[in-house]
Amino acid sequence: MMRRPARPVFPGILRWLYLTAPVVVVILVLFTEARDSRPATRATRPAMGTSVTITVLHRSERRARMALEAAYDAIERAEAALSAWRDSSEVSRLNRDRTIVAGSDLQRVLTAARHYYELSSGAFDITVKPVLDVYRAIFADEDRAPTPAERDAARQAVGFEHLTVTGNEVFLSGEAAIDLGGLAKGYIIDRAVAALRRSGIHDGLVNAGGDIRAFGSNNGEPWRIALQNPRDRTDYLAVIALTDYAITTSGDYERYFDPEREYHHIIDPRTGRSATALISATIIAGRAVDADALSTSVFVLGPEEGLALVERLAGVEALLITRGREIRVSSGLDDYLTGSLRVPDGNPELSPEL
Ligand code: AMP
Ligand code: MG
Repeated sequence: MMRRPARPVFPGILRWLYLTAPVVVVILVLFTEARDSRPATRATRPAMGTSVTITVLHRSERRARMALEAAYDAIERAEAALSAWRDSSEVSRLNRDRTIVAGSDLQRVLTAARHYYELSSGAFDITVKPVLDVYRAIFADEDRAPTPAERDAARQAVGFEHLTVTGNEVFLSGEAAIDLGGLAKGYIIDRAVAALRRSGIHDGLVNAGGDIRAFGSNNGEPWRIALQNPRDRTDYLAVIALTDYAITTSGDYERYFDPEREYHHIIDPRTGRSATALISATIIAGRAVDADALSTSVFVLGPEEGLALVERLAGVEALLITRGREIRVSSGLDDYLTGSLRVPDGNPELSPEL
């Protein structure tokens, strides 16, 4: 929802570069049709600033279509609360009015955001928005990077302590503003999966622009997801077998301000600059909200601290590509190549039940 490829913030050539940027890690879903299998029913619609493809397996196509409608309705409801691109969304109103009575979607996302702020020791921080805004504004208006003084001025407004949640009331103090782009898409994917399950679907897959959650199985087989080799599009880095898992990627290629990609959309709150140790961080976790928040966190933390965090979390794995094009993986990633890893029940390290 936070990535809108055609957003006209880039002048001329920069904008063209941005639109045609080579994607570093492409995640593809590999479908194999088993004999005597339940048919796959699929729909693709624009949502969350990307295109969302939902696949469900059910004998009855009518039931499958009804479930797809319920899933897109859930996506629409969550976007109405969380989208940065809608002036009327709860998050936009909070940033404008400084206070809001939050519905359940915003409350849950803020709970998860605080959890990942603490777990990442502040690397994941939804209050970085003032810094992102100054990058956007100065590149768009003057086609240059902010000076250290301009950056430091914007950093003054950053700080999780400016965000207060009391029951369902949310307050922002000072010049603070929040940006949910680091985890809202994952959360919304999870809402779509919950809606499908409530509609009686046990097996399916939600793919929002390469951020994916799979549930159940592909007619008894795991869902197979391929990570394309960024250096050779005809090759895969890995084919990952997922049953009830999500996989998301954070990368500097998605939205950047300058051709060198020194200035891009993932900010290290400790420095006020874009995080540059990694070019891509792919995370596997049980839920998409956890994978999404962790991929942004690990992107900021870099390979050493990022992998150390992932190793502490049961049921979470990572595949990272460093700026030097080195591939680093967490110790359990291999298990996914056979589909043998499972999310432990009630993992206390991940964010509370949403
Ligand atoms: P993702 O593609 O999931 O890594 O999300 C990137 C988005 O997260 C950016 O476009 C910003 O909206 C937001 N963001 C940038 N830096 C941070 C950060 N340090 N913590 C949390 N969210 C961030
Ligand atoms: Mg993320």
